[in-house]
Amino acid sequence: MLIIGSHVSYGKEGILTSVKEAIEYRANTFMFYTGAPTNTARKDINVETVLEAQQLMKDNNIDINNVICHAPYIVNLANKKDIDKWQFSIEFIKKELIRCDMLGINKMVLHPGNAVGISKEEGLNNILEALNIVLEDSSKCSILLETMAGKGTECCSTIEELSFLINGSKCQGRIGVCLDTCHLNDAGYNMRCFDQYLDEFTKSINLNKVKCIHLNDSKNPLGSHKDRHANLGKGTIGFDTLLGIAYNKRLENIPKILETPYIGQNDDSKERLYPPYKYEIEMLRNKEYNENYFDLIRKENNI
Ligand code: FE
Ligand code: FE
Ligand code: ZN
Repeated sequence: MLIIGSHVSYGKEGILTSVKEAIEYRANTFMFYTGAPTNTARKDINVETVLEAQQLMKDNNIDINNVICHAPYIVNLANKKDIDKWQFSIEFIKKELIRCDMLGINKMVLHPGNAVGISKEEGLNNILEALNIVLEDSSKCSILLETMAGKGTECCSTIEELSFLINGSKCQGRIGVCLDTCHLNDAGYNMRCFDQYLDEFTKSINLNKVKCIHLNDSKNPLGSHKDRHANLGKGTIGFDTLLGIAYNKRLENIPKILETPYIGQNDDSKERLYPPYKYEIEMLRNKEYNENYFDLIRKENNI
């Protein structure tokens, strides 16, 4: 069965808000940030709401083992120039893993880092060193390194870079990969030949390291190094290709997470107000593209 969900908010009731939102989309998994993705302020976890959330997951066929946490993207393990910041990032990720343990979540996606003002090679060495420090802790939660678009100084946009980090990790039991289709496209890997990509991947990394897929279309062409997500079928990858990836037999039991943008009142509006996930999930389940799904979403919201 397809394991499909989307990014959801971690609201007033923390993960309970997330589960309720996922249920609205008829998802059987979801991904959340434990606070704003752009900062590191975090509130305490309420044990009672966590238990309620876990029960609600059980009642709605959401296996908690498929649920994903995403680390904020401002922590940067690549840059050691400002040693305080680097150490802060390490400590923050350790704390984030403890929060995952408290929530019962065993997978956390991480953007490896940006090699600002240093070489990629140096950046990758710093990331690996930091990961090995982080994974000395006693958390049960794995870190999934996300494949990046290679925007600016972003590390980990090639299989070689990813393989360096994965195979260099001293804690093989808790390191994995999250493949983001938009990022892969923007990094120059053609998603129309996804099996070829997996063949290439398995030459240096065991396929069982792949623990999550971010299923996104891309606003930009192959190799653009941009990282702008598009809704399914509204980008350069296309619905059929993404559908093929969602059902690819080699990654059958891996959770697929949508991080596609909210849609606006019309195609040009700047305000992105309405989540597309219920419709995108439905199209993937039905294996059928409805080119008018934006209209349906606007209609449902009376606009
Ligand atoms: Fe990400
Ligand atoms: Fe992603
Ligand atoms: Zn992205």
